[in-house]
Amino acid sequence: METIGHWIGGQLSAQATRTQDVFNPATGQVAKQVAIAPRATVEEAIEVAQAAYPEWRNTPALKRARVMFRYKSLLEEHADRIIELIGAEHGKICHDAAGELQRGIENVEYACCAPELLKGEFSKNVGPNIDSWSEFQPLGVVAGITPFNFPAMVPLWMFPMAIVCGNTFVLKPSERDPSTALFLAELLKEAGLPDGVFNVVNGDKEAVDTLLESPTVKAVSFVGSTPIAEYIYSKASANGKRCQALGGAKNHAIVMPDADMDNVVSQLLGAAFGSSGERCMALSVAVAVGQEAGDALIEKMSAAMQPLKVGEHTDKDNDFGPVITKEHQQKVVGFIDSAEAQGATVVVDGRQPKVTGFEDGFFVGATLIDGVTKDMDSYQQEIFGPVLQVIRANTMDEAMQLINDHEYGNGTCIFTRDGEAARYFSDHIEVGMVGINVPLPVPVAYHSFGGWKRSLFGDLHAYGPDAVRFYTKRKTITQRWPSADLREGSHFSFPS
Ligand code: NAD
Repeated sequence: METIGHWIGGQLSAQATRTQDVFNPATGQVAKQVAIAPRATVEEAIEVAQAAYPEWRNTPALKRARVMFRYKSLLEEHADRIIELIGAEHGKICHDAAGELQRGIENVEYACCAPELLKGEFSKNVGPNIDSWSEFQPLGVVAGITPFNFPAMVPLWMFPMAIVCGNTFVLKPSERDPSTALFLAELLKEAGLPDGVFNVVNGDKEAVDTLLESPTVKAVSFVGSTPIAEYIYSKASANGKRCQALGGAKNHAIVMPDADMDNVVSQLLGAAFGSSGERCMALSVAVAVGQEAGDALIEKMSAAMQPLKVGEHTDKDNDFGPVITKEHQQKVVGFIDSAEAQGATVVVDGRQPKVTGFEDGFFVGATLIDGVTKDMDSYQQEIFGPVLQVIRANTMDEAMQLINDHEYGNGTCIFTRDGEAARYFSDHIEVGMVGINVPLPVPVAYHSFGGWKRSLFGDLHAYGPDAVRFYTKRKTITQRWPSADLREGSHFSFPS
């Protein structure tokens, strides 16, 4: 059976004292093994990245960007292979994986703008014969730790920008779908990236802790669940590192009484069930304002869900695939059980989907639950499965209060035809990414991505302009070339 190793110094390496099963979630069978890096392997990757840093740091930004131009073309050329790797280990349907890759490529395109983004700021004559400028210098070795649900896109949120800013990088992808990251690394080498600038170590907590404890690693970008994000942020910060740690979510859509209900339903289908709901921006709660809107939503939604097809990733007719593991399947089903036990009504029940030929796969069918209340476990916690819960609210303010009271604040959306209501919503909602009739308001690559509250620990958001700030440190230089006529004596007061 194939064992997926690491990518260190531009080469595959398979050092491991332990391995872990990698499943094909559609068949439920073990398909590969992944090497779990011991501390020494991670330390080797960090050393290799550190050794590559001085030369890469001094490579002109335009030359660094040229690697990204070639990389974009290679990613497009090898899209089918990447989509297949994602599907085989994550399970997402090929058209969904193609969308993920496209959003990743857009980050590479943004990274191609490095010379412009790194130009810095200049002021002439801030004093007699004095000029001052600020420049953005790289940090050194930086690390990325990524989740299973976007094995291509989330790493691509991080390393293209980190690298074009002049840093070298160690990526620790999810051990549940590790192959994509290694192929992304091979393509970077083909694009002309010098060996050692980008490294991948597969592993678990031991690998992560090694990165967090190494004094050589200057910054850590993390995306994953909130408990781990909080751990990463506190440990990285305690060790003096810059850190951005993006966590979990519970994204609500408010359905106003004036909304176009057919449009709401078609938008919610994809946003709630696409990728089996395993997206940090998935809309998992619909808050219907008023009895009539709630009843119409349930009636139309349950009808629209009947033809949804869950199945294997290569079949383009399927709408979404399995969830990532058997344990996660049981967890999702457990949340549906608990909602029912706590008084909600399961209107469309996906607990026992029939997927012919894939009876052992980790499938959960699309599920609709009505009558959810804020005290229920299924509402308070992130389910991360194809489950849409409906809460009834009497007013828009009541609906907004629910969202503002929730511990997460990643994404949200309002469906309405009323501009005044939409403006009030976007002004006052305590959430980082807001949609107005846009169910998945994922910012494009030239804006930045990040939630509020316990969906993000740290100050700077991921990718876009914030990434330039995150992956560089500002240095401000003040320069004078005294001329004979301006030569001054000593001053003992503060320069002004
Ligand atoms: P996870 O937190 O289990 O794992 C994320 C990474 O952390 C993996 O690389 C994993 O190996 C590592 N890790 C796991 N346990 C660890 C530990 N105890 N110590 C150190 N490292 C550890 O997350 P996941 O299940 O892979 O991904 C799903 C979660 O990610 C969901 O909560 C989802 O909302 C979130 N997510 C958030 C965003 C966002 O932008 N906010 C984007 C994608 C996913």
